[in-house]
Amino acid sequence: MLRGVTSDTATSAASGSFRPLFVDELTGRARSHLVALEDPHCLLHAAVVQPFLAMRAAALQDGIVLEPASSFRDFDRQCLIWNGKYRGERALLDRQGQPLDALALSPAERVEAILCWSALPGASRHHWGTDLDVYDGAALPAGERPQLVPAEYAPGGPFARLDAWLAAHAARFGFFRPYGVGPTDALREGVAPEPWHISHAAIAMDCLSRLTPDVLREALATAALEGAPEIAARLEGWHARFVLGVDDPPAIALAAAQADASARELGDHGSMV
Ligand SMILES: [Zn+2]
Repeated sequence: MLRGVTSDTATSAASGSFRPLFVDELTGRARSHLVALEDPHCLLHAAVVQPFLAMRAAALQDGIVLEPASSFRDFDRQCLIWNGKYRGERALLDRQGQPLDALALSPAERVEAILCWSALPGASRHHWGTDLDVYDGAALPAGERPQLVPAEYAPGGPFARLDAWLAAHAARFGFFRPYGVGPTDALREGVAPEPWHISHAAIAMDCLSRLTPDVLREALATAALEGAPEIAARLEGWHARFVLGVDDPPAIALAAAQADASARELGDHGSMV
């Protein structure tokens, strides 16, 4: 079922925990921290596989089929998304989800508009393998694809049950939602709310602490990225607002990851569930 992308994994056998990501892994330019799953089809950080599968099994007990719409995404893919939005070739939305005319905006306005919905290449949490966009495969209307819009996860939407399930249970498997489902939503001016985006708290927090403006600047130095001068000029500010400006994980999510690591040290893979 599992297939290592390389012989190296990001799980440290010595500690039962995980090793810090290398800079190239952190910024989406290497895959050595990842494991490919076939069912469900996704690419995850090696130490996130078991917690995710445990959470998926628990959701299934409640009739929810936790499907990844997106898991790992690399630097080059994020560049394509970024440049497409900047050039007006992909839909660009304002914070309220209304379409914007990219070419009518100044370069700085364009960068800011993109950042509400898409990360800077090198700064996507999807680079880490700790973060996924999920939907409920059991609730997806026949013949449709998930749109990943807030209305699907709001009361009356097909994934409202999943939204409530994640709010109630994700933390005990070590996961949380970093974009806009916490009490600070109204104050945050970073990424727009994404109820579908889940993150493995302990490993992602470690990644976040390592993704400094300098690491990001180095990753962007040789990229063919639209808006590069504006990004370089305001990198610290964008980083503070859109990279660091996420909701804090609940303590229970961090504690769950520690309990999982301890269980693996004891060779008891099943105790987490
Ligand atoms: Zn996402």
